Amino acid sequence: MPLLSCENNLKQLKTLCHAYANRFGGPKSQFPTATGGAFWLTLAHTKPPLVDNTDIFKCPSNPFPSDVDSTDYLGPAGDANSLKPTDILGGCRHETGPNEAVYILIRKDSEVLRLSEKDANPYLSQLKK
Ligand SMILES: [Zn+2]
Repeated sequence: MPLLSCENNLKQLKTLCHAYANRFGGPKSQFPTATGGAFWLTLAHTKPPLVDNTDIFKCPSNPFPSDVDSTDYLGPAGDANSLKPTDILGGCRHETGPNEAVYILIRKDSEVLRLSEKDANPYLSQLKK
C-alpha cells in the first residue's frame, strides 16, 4: 500500500518537526525555516542526528529513489513557523493514471488529506519542491 506508507512517512516527518523544535528550535521552539524539500532535509542533517532511518524521506512509490541527500516530499512554500494550523506543511503527488493523480497532504496540525489533483489544486501554492 504505497499511499498508506507514504502517509505514514509524512506523519513521521511531522513528528520529527516537533523533536527538531524541542532540541534545535531555540527558545521559541521553532520548526526549520527552510522551504520546500530542504525543510524536511533539515531534519536529516542535525547533530546529533534526530533520525537514523532516512528511508522516511523517500516516497515508497518512487521506483527510482535518488540519493540519500534528497527527498521526494514537497515542503512548505514559506517559513513553516508563520503557518496557521490548517495550512499545508508538505505533501506528495502520486500518479494514478494517464491524467490522474492523488495528493497526500499533511497540515501543520498533523491532519492528513488525500485529495484528487483537482481538489488539491487550491492548496498547491502552499507547497514547494
Ligand atoms: Zn508519496
